[in-house]
Amino acid sequence: MLLNKYNRHYKKCSTDINATNKTSESAYLLYLLNENLNLSTKLDELFEYTTSFFKNNLDIKDFCFMLNHGDNDELTISKTGSDVFDAAKDLTFKKGEEYSCIAAQTGDPLLLNDISKKNNQLFYKGKLENTGTFLSLPLQSKNNRILGLLNIHKREINAFTEEDKELLTTVALNIANTIERIELYEKAEKGAMYDDLTMLYQRKYFFDSCQLEFSKAIRHNLNFSIAMIDIDYFKYYNDTYGHLFGDEILKKLAYILKSNVRYSDIVSRYGGEEFAILLPDMDKGSATIVIDKLRETVKRILSLETANGKIECVTITAGVAAYPVDGDSVKQILSTADKYLYIGKSCGRNRVVNTTLDNQPLQQDKKAKYSALLNREEINLLLYKNVNRQINRHKTLLRVDKGINNIQFFEIKVTEDDWRICAIGDISNGGFKGELNFKPKLDEIYTCRAVVDSEVHIPAVFSIRIAHNRTIHKNRYEIGAEIVDGHNNWKRLFSLLVNNTK
Ligand code: GH3
Ligand code: MG
Ligand code: MG
Repeated sequence: MLLNKYNRHYKKCSTDINATNKTSESAYLLYLLNENLNLSTKLDELFEYTTSFFKNNLDIKDFCFMLNHGDNDELTISKTGSDVFDAAKDLTFKKGEEYSCIAAQTGDPLLLNDISKKNNQLFYKGKLENTGTFLSLPLQSKNNRILGLLNIHKREINAFTEEDKELLTTVALNIANTIERIELYEKAEKGAMYDDLTMLYQRKYFFDSCQLEFSKAIRHNLNFSIAMIDIDYFKYYNDTYGHLFGDEILKKLAYILKSNVRYSDIVSRYGGEEFAILLPDMDKGSATIVIDKLRETVKRILSLETANGKIECVTITAGVAAYPVDGDSVKQILSTADKYLYIGKSCGRNRVVNTTLDNQPLQQDKKAKYSALLNREEINLLLYKNVNRQINRHKTLLRVDKGINNIQFFEIKVTEDDWRICAIGDISNGGFKGELNFKPKLDEIYTCRAVVDSEVHIPAVFSIRIAHNRTIHKNRYEIGAEIVDGHNNWKRLFSLLVNNTK
């Protein structure tokens, strides 16, 4: 019967698509269906195509999809072709619970030409009447998993022939293949979007979101900020207590980050133990306050008990950069945030840094009395032109817990092209205390230089002897360094630093 109806349509349009005479009517019908199904990448699109295909080509209006969404035995009415089903929409059934869903249990199509004979049984839990023809087609995957049912109704009895049933069974098979493909596609898309361990967004999704925010910011003249966050001494926890302990830290931190920012902020795992947060429509000042609160929260609550009962408290360091003040591309803003993070590390960690200049906000923490920074020109003036030593702005203390800000850190030469960062701790006429990530040998002589920011090296080289080396954590060492060569260079650096303490 269906084919007769279809026949008229086929004859009308067969010349348009140049179908050959050999093409059977049903094959052409399936061709039409598949052409649309192949374009579907979402279930809603598939439903939309199927609905118009049924209505336009087969004169079928009353149908529904009952889909199985998990590993359970349940089917939910997910999509209906007409308002006949409105009363039953979203109802959930166990497979085989009543005859409307028995085909999901048997795996065989079910054609009932007159369901009024089943008046003594509930049809869709009593929401629909037992009248007319009912055809139930299993939606079966290639490996015979029942994805759901396609149930078709006709108000008249004997509406479908065996031939129709066969054709619609093939239609259902094609729809099932499409549903399976969409499920796989969605799973892959989700997998690529989220990090398995922390369930935060992955780097690619984060970067795409930043690009989107960037275009929005340009169009509507808005700000946005990006924070790069890194766990302090993470390697120590991994090396001391094992990777699983490290993973626990990552999961807990992810949870704290996610639950302490706005819903619209994008929190991502940027790499191993690095996290990045996009704060849309937020300027650098506000973002710094948010991220510093976050740092404080982490410091307060991120603690884990080790196997031997010790409590380890974990801290984070962050760099905050913003559009438009820190760059005019996402890449630039990210790399600036990264640079600030790097400065935060060399200044002693557990802090938020948002600038290299002297407007860097002072930490609330009284211990962090670090001075404002000098900019590059000022350093050059002081070091090489030896003028204008009256920099009244820099009145805060130079000596800080770990690190000095205007000269951000020293670098120690390990090999010709391997200079390691040394955070400055304490200085004197004859040497300094510092912190680094490798253990230099006692009494060994190393070449050193000072760094103004992460890219500018001051060419004032001096040599040190390692007077003491103490392990702080597994990959952190404190050293005492005695100046043994380049005394004049050291004196100039020292006087520059000491002049700041006035
Ligand atoms: P800093 O304070 O300077 O950041 O020191 P750090 O020890 O945290 O830094 P480093 O970059 O030396 O250490 C990062 C470590 O993170 C190295 C790597 O083994 C570890 N890591 C990366 N991804 C994972 C992960 O998924 N799980 C665990 N447990 N560790 C990871
Ligand atoms: Mg790191
Ligand atoms: Mg780290």
